[in-house]
Amino acid sequence: MSTIIVAAGRQTVLSLQKTVMYTLPKTIIKVSKNSNVTAGNETSYHGLRISYFKNDIRTLKINTLFYLSSVFLLALSCSEKNKHVEKEVEKPAVTILIQPFKDIKPDAVEKVDEGIKKVYPNLKVLTAIDFPENTYYKARNRYRADSIIKFLNNNTKVGFVTIGLTSKDISATKGKIKDFGIMGLGYRPGKACVASTFRLSKENAAEQFYKIAIHELGHTQGLPHCPEKMCFMRDAEGKNPTNEETDFCKKCKTFLINKNWKFSSI
Ligand SMILES: [Zn+2]
Ligand SMILES: [Zn+2]
Repeated sequence: MSTIIVAAGRQTVLSLQKTVMYTLPKTIIKVSKNSNVTAGNETSYHGLRISYFKNDIRTLKINTLFYLSSVFLLALSCSEKNKHVEKEVEKPAVTILIQPFKDIKPDAVEKVDEGIKKVYPNLKVLTAIDFPENTYYKARNRYRADSIIKFLNNNTKVGFVTIGLTSKDISATKGKIKDFGIMGLGYRPGKACVASTFRLSKENAAEQFYKIAIHELGHTQGLPHCPEKMCFMRDAEGKNPTNEETDFCKKCKTFLINKNWKFSSI
């Protein structure tokens, strides 16, 4: 609540009042006794009732049940609009959570963490957990990737994305093949994905694992598969082409920069 003291003629006070009603609805206008305003007078202005009181400094009081409610509505609709605009201008950065399963070695997790941090610093590693029972596919001694990401998704709050890391074999249904071994799977867009070291080459497993992880995270951000052979978002097509992948391509980088990813070059 603020107060404006004015020494002015009646018309000036009235137009000032009108301006204040629209811009600073909680302001009280006090009229100094030098003003040319008749004490005890009442007048109306655009449906407003304004009273002048017989004080040394006369208070312009507004009887505004109708008026204030319309100003309030106006203010509400404005703030709604502003919120909408803010949302479009600055998208808040999501936090990526790395969720290791108990089978994976900590240094494999660390390498993924270090790699992703370089391009997406808003990252946290969680304590390792067991696989939920329903994810195990006994017939093949595998874990179902679709069940894993469903589980991770259910445990991920808005504003977060979780990536599960495992050394176990994971699988999903691919076309007519009910249980097809894969390296990773992610919702597009979504809050969860999973990556496995099981199908990677032994020589450069750490580097390949990072590429699988960042590919699946790319899906969660909304990226589809990319036709560029060097791009992390290339479709594996049932093989392991990660040695040919060197980076995200320009197009995929531009997409991710809009999602708060940081690249030193494009
Ligand atoms: Zn993919
Ligand atoms: Zn690409």
